[in-house]
Amino acid sequence: MANKLLRCVGCKTRFPRETMQKLLPGWFHSLDCAAKYGRAKSDRARAKEAAKAKREYNQVTKELKTALNATDVRHNLKLTQTEFNKFIRLRDKNDPCISCDQSPHQGQRHASHYRSVNACSVLRFDEANVHASCAQCNCMKSGNITEYRIRLVKKIGPTKVEWLECQNKPRKYTCPELAEIRAHYAKLNRELTK
Ligand SMILES: [Zn+2]
Ligand SMILES: [Zn+2]
Repeated sequence: MANKLLRCVGCKTRFPRETMQKLLPGWFHSLDCAAKYGRAKSDRARAKEAAKAKREYNQVTKELKTALNATDVRHNLKLTQTEFNKFIRLRDKNDPCISCDQSPHQGQRHASHYRSVNACSVLRFDEANVHASCAQCNCMKSGNITEYRIRLVKKIGPTKVEWLECQNKPRKYTCPELAEIRAHYAKLNRELTK
C-alpha cells in the first residue's frame, strides 16, 4: 500500500500518496500545484461573475435605451401632433364644425380625428382623417362620429371615407419620421399664417 498512487487534483498526474497533501478540493502533489489550481479556479469564478455582470449590464442598458426611446417617441408624437393639428385648424379656418356645423368663428376650434389616434395610428397624420370641429363635438361627444361621417362624405367623398374606415394596420413612428412630418407641417403653417 506504500506505493499507492493518487491523482493530483491540480495537474492530473499520479504520485505516491505519502508525498501528497490533502486539501479541501482533494489531493495535491505540491503546494505550487495547489496554488495554481486555486488561482485558476478563482479566475474562472471571476470570469463567470464578470460575464454575469456584463449580461446584467447589457440587459439594463437595453431596457433603458428602449424606455428612453419610447419617451422620446412620445414626446415627438406630441410635438408633431400639435403642429399637424394647427395645420388642420388653419386649413379649415372658414369651415363649420365637421360634426355639427357650428360656425368657425364661434368658440374654440379643435382638430378632430374621424378614426381616433388610438384606434388607428396609421391615420394619425392623415389629412383626410382629421378636420376642424367645435370643442364640444371633439371633447364631449368623442367626435360626434355619426354626424361627422355625414359631413365627411360630403367633404371628401364616400370612396375616401370607406378607405379611411378600412385602415387598420397599426403604425409605429420613429423620431426621425416624426421630425420630418413636423417640419413639413411647420412649413405649411408658416405659409398659411403669412
Ligand atoms: Zn499536481
Ligand atoms: Zn361641433
